[in-house]
Amino acid sequence: MNPRTSLAIDLGASSWRAFLAWQEEAGLRLEEIYREENSPIELASGLFWDIEKIFGGIKRLLKDVAGRGVYLSSIGIDSWSVDYGLLDEAGVLLELPRCYRDPRNKGKLEELTTSIELDVLFERTGVMAEDITTLCQLLAAKKQTPAILEQAATLLFIPDLLRYWLCGQCATDFTLATGSQLYNLQHRAWDEELLALLGLPCHMLPRVFGAGTVLGCLSPKLQEETGLGPVPVVTGASHDTAAAFLAASGDQDCAILSSGTWSILGVNLPQTLASASIDPLRFGYEGNPDGSVRLVHNVPGMWLLERCRAEWKRGGIECTYAALIDEARRRTDYTGRIDPGWSGFTYPESLMDAIRAFMRETAQPEPRQPGEFTRAILSGLAESYAQALAELRALTNRKLGRLVVVGGGAQNELLNELTASRANVVVSPGCIEATILGNVQNQLLAIETLQQTPSS
Ligand code: ADP
Repeated sequence: MNPRTSLAIDLGASSWRAFLAWQEEAGLRLEEIYREENSPIELASGLFWDIEKIFGGIKRLLKDVAGRGVYLSSIGIDSWSVDYGLLDEAGVLLELPRCYRDPRNKGKLEELTTSIELDVLFERTGVMAEDITTLCQLLAAKKQTPAILEQAATLLFIPDLLRYWLCGQCATDFTLATGSQLYNLQHRAWDEELLALLGLPCHMLPRVFGAGTVLGCLSPKLQEETGLGPVPVVTGASHDTAAAFLAASGDQDCAILSSGTWSILGVNLPQTLASASIDPLRFGYEGNPDGSVRLVHNVPGMWLLERCRAEWKRGGIECTYAALIDEARRRTDYTGRIDPGWSGFTYPESLMDAIRAFMRETAQPEPRQPGEFTRAILSGLAESYAQALAELRALTNRKLGRLVVVGGGAQNELLNELTASRANVVVSPGCIEATILGNVQNQLLAIETLQQTPSS
């Protein structure tokens, strides 16, 4: 038994996993104890997350932890941002949370800009303009499911919803609020004026907490069901990118790339840049747990490769990462390169077909086998990182000679090499489990703060 054991749960769009973490003299020791597939479910009315199934998995996980005789000091949950669930007055979930790739969000950004100029929206919220933001999703909800929106008493983002079911407390944190496009980054509050302008309700927006906050304890019902005690449930670094950047933080000369389903490349800044002229279609600010910000460029990342692997698998071709990367490395004669930000990659039925279509549209040779597809994806990602890094250098006036890559994609040596050469940067592969590490760091801060707070 160890008195300082944290349980970190990290939800990803293709899988979710849980780690136990122990604070030891040499640093944090992590042990993966649970992993389950995750994917959106397609129903007649759209694309949803099976959040009840995820919560069922979390309960199984908690029972398993109790069965091991582990004394848990805290639980933390992080996930992708923007997606949310709506609760009614009685705290009942009105509809499964929709996936950001739900086709009903298509074109919502353009619709939004008929009511408010993009620059003004960016000045208020700091969010990179895309169809998938919570604001765009709420506009889609207002049009297609207004009755649900009318009944909504509380909006909770994915980790908030799970925490609510764990401890009964409704709240969010700065890292999730700032990614929603509902939050005014300058005033540090929900942007009620913006919501009123768009005819959206704001009474449902929850309280926003900062770094390392104990929200509550595991509910008595769950204590009984799982066999655990009143374990503190922590918020503060709930957006997975915020957790990854927290664990990766380097010096001034360093940019960070969180390389997983998404590729998020950016720099940490104490505050927003006063005089920089930022293109909201290319960059956005996201909140860090401590109230500082990161300026990031966001494009689909390893998801592109994952989607192709799934298609090859359906066709009977099983491709390991090592084999794919090796094959792509040898295809030096193939010159095609995707643009990961191309709109045709957002809602594709077949990603391989979308890549072929992109090549035709840009007069490049179509890839023929997995090695060429992989090379086209990796070269495209490296090019997009190089462009984003050049823009970040100009915006921040920093040299940014080093790029720390964290997340599963850090293991892709070919991508690291292509990036180093395209972006003229030293690539340092960092922690593969940076998100979990950041999640745990935030939990430790919460427990420390709690212990230092005098009881009244
Ligand atoms: P997320 O948290 O967004 O689900 P991860 O940080 O777990 O993403 O990274 C997952 C990605 O890591 C995979 O899509 C894959 O491309 C990459 N990856 C995993 N293992 C390897 C490996 N052995 N070699 C190269 N890439 C890998």
